[in-house]
Amino acid sequence: MDCSTQWSNGVRSGERPRDDLGSAGESGGQSGSGAVKMSRAVVLSDYARGPAVERLELGPVLPGGALVRIDAATVCGTDVHISDGVFEHLARLPLVMGHEGTGTVLELGAGTDRDARGQPLQSGDRIVWAHNWCGRCYFCAVAKQPTLCENTMGYGWGPYQKGAVNGTFSEHLHVAPDSRVLRVPDRVSSPLASAATCALRTVMHALDRLSRIRFSDTVAVLGAGPVGVLCAAAALHSGAHQVILIGAPASRLAATERWDLSARIDIDDTEPDQRIEAVRSLTDGRGADVVFECAGPPDAFTEGMEMVRAGGAFMVIGQAHGQTVPVPTTAMKVRQLTVRTSLSADISHFHDALQFLDRHGDALGLESVVCSNTYTLEQVHDALASMRAGSEMKPVIVP
Ligand SMILES: [Zn+2]
Ligand SMILES: [Zn+2]
Repeated sequence: MDCSTQWSNGVRSGERPRDDLGSAGESGGQSGSGAVKMSRAVVLSDYARGPAVERLELGPVLPGGALVRIDAATVCGTDVHISDGVFEHLARLPLVMGHEGTGTVLELGAGTDRDARGQPLQSGDRIVWAHNWCGRCYFCAVAKQPTLCENTMGYGWGPYQKGAVNGTFSEHLHVAPDSRVLRVPDRVSSPLASAATCALRTVMHALDRLSRIRFSDTVAVLGAGPVGVLCAAAALHSGAHQVILIGAPASRLAATERWDLSARIDIDDTEPDQRIEAVRSLTDGRGADVVFECAGPPDAFTEGMEMVRAGGAFMVIGQAHGQTVPVPTTAMKVRQLTVRTSLSADISHFHDALQFLDRHGDALGLESVVCSNTYTLEQVHDALASMRAGSEMKPVIVP
């Protein structure tokens, strides 16, 4: 969580409730699939009772889908909020928790023979999967914005329908038909690839919508959770002249000490005016060419706007509080700011994320920066508690 004392608003930063939303998943069948008939999974049926491990029936693998064994499932602040009932109006109980994961193919449905890159798929391959999108609605077919698909199904958001396990906190998962999948490069670990299925692909989508970062640019990133830290990593390798990471706690900033960041600003030690001044002082008084808001709270939006130079770009990825934030529209126009937003990602951004990890993951030490302790399914309460407390970047569940 891009958590902080100053930016705390009770809502997980960098993650948006609609990210994994959509209509119900496909219904499961009656018979088991292959040799595997049942799966232990973390099920949320009742907010008062909380998540519990249950044994679920595994239905048949549908055409276009797949059955995977989950190798690693990373925990997201969104999972904490789903568990806590913060997204009560969006989540549909009962649900199998978890939307981030890497799995090994056990069975492929008819027609699932290649990944989105065109590489042949077979049992034993390690894969990640995007949310499914229909390809037929206005947003898929005309607008070419599948992240706005009206017919998508969200892993980890429910509802669970008998036979189809659609959450990653589980031994097994049914990859839904029309969920685009990608093989994971050998050099990328399963926990790190899992983290890429939410935070890093979100960053890649934002970079895509931003068009480009110039070699002369100064990039400021607000938020030191998984999204913010990975955004800083991507900005570093995008050619930006300077990258400034702003967030808390200090341990998260320190985790990036080997990176060639121009500045790390701890929001626990500074006031907003000091941070805005610090960014301006690094840019001859102008402000950053590009500011990424990856933090979440309303104040981060207001502060980020002040950090952008005249004519610069403000990319909003983090806002997830449901409140209305006053915007100085006249100043925004006079300063000719470009304000853009981005949510979730399509499979092309998953591809970008995996390629980035393959090329830069080791050099940046990303696995140790992003992935923290490992938990079993039965320890899910501990993993969620740790995430809730902000004491870990990304707990990893290994079923
Ligand atoms: Zn997530
Ligand atoms: Zn669609």
